Amino acid sequence: MKTAIEVIKKLKSSGYEAYLVGGAVRDFLLGKDPKDFDVATSAEPVQVKEIFDRTVDTGIQHGTVLVLIGGTGVEVTTFRTESDYTDNRRPDRVEFVNSLAEDLKRRDFTINAMAMTEELELVDIFGGRQDLEEKLIRAVGEPEERFQEDALRMLRAVRFSGQLDFSIDEQTLAAIKRNASLIRSVAVERIKIELDKIMANQHAARSIDYLLYSGLADQLPSGDLFRIDWQDFKPSGDPLSGWLYALWHSKKDASALASYKLSNEEKTAVAKALEAAGLEHWNQWTYYSYTLRQLELAAGLMQKQQNPAVQKSRLPVQSKSDLAVNGRDLMEWSGQKAGPWLKDALGDIERRVVCGELENEKDKIKEWFFDEYNRDK
Ligand code: ATP
Ligand code: MG
Repeated sequence: MKTAIEVIKKLKSSGYEAYLVGGAVRDFLLGKDPKDFDVATSAEPVQVKEIFDRTVDTGIQHGTVLVLIGGTGVEVTTFRTESDYTDNRRPDRVEFVNSLAEDLKRRDFTINAMAMTEELELVDIFGGRQDLEEKLIRAVGEPEERFQEDALRMLRAVRFSGQLDFSIDEQTLAAIKRNASLIRSVAVERIKIELDKIMANQHAARSIDYLLYSGLADQLPSGDLFRIDWQDFKPSGDPLSGWLYALWHSKKDASALASYKLSNEEKTAVAKALEAAGLEHWNQWTYYSYTLRQLELAAGLMQKQQNPAVQKSRLPVQSKSDLAVNGRDLMEWSGQKAGPWLKDALGDIERRVVCGELENEKDKIKEWFFDEYNRDK
């Protein structure tokens, strides 16, 4: 917060208007630590870049410059208004306008449409503060119009309901119901980001209730995945925990998520976590061969009490490279050239060391190797 205020003060002393806006104002009023800070200003990007030493052009075409001070980044965006919507997705043109009110008007919900000065004075044109008190998510202006401008806002409303444990205002919810099918026009990548945040949030079940009730779920790819009992779902903060819960309880595999274009890492994590969750017993080899994320996802799914991080840290080795011997040792000891035998022997040693049957000491392994392995090779 200090850094954001410093940025505002500096812009003001250079003769520009500047305010803290968006989620940071909301979170500040809720007494939560804002994740990131957005400042809206009358200065244009070139001017912002002149004022601050360290900046990154993160979204200069949208008028946004990231200002870096110490280890903190503040997104500084020129006041803007969005016009000429030809489809339900993104504005065609972003005009720079010299007005805070115009900037706030284009924001999605009243609780996200407040601004704050460097003196912590609130600018609240749409009654955001009252809605915060009443725990309400209410569209700025005419909800119908706002969802037709950008249909993703419907999913954002649902996301914030779980993130903040708020209700969606009646009229806003009715407009979502009427316009749910517009979500089909939104790029799946944007949808995935919101769904991930839904899956990760504290009150995911609340968001999912709204997703179903509003009719949005029916319009989403694999929307039937949400039609399960979420009673036992405990969000872990990892978005995949929600996706896995849905897959597990609808008896589907990762391919059901194909439309969401998961990254390779996510695909592997889902497949591996499902595999681990299906294992009857977890032993040292299990803790060794799955990543911590995969184990935690699977443990969450099975409501296992074990703490995979602790179990993993107790293993004699964490990876092949921790073994006291390598292929060269085995070749030297046996006098044989590399070949399929080498991989087998190393795999055998690895498994025994991990499972505590063989000590990870060169002499001990050598002894074992001559005794058990080298005999008939
Ligand atoms: P979070 O704490 O999850 O980051 P946030 O409110 O900061 O919540 P962002 O997605 O980071 O949400 O967006 C920052 C601000 O930009 C919002 O508070 C809102 O004012 C505005 N905003 C973001 N997306 C939209 C949108 N699709 N339509 C209108 N305004 C939006
Ligand atoms: Mg944010």
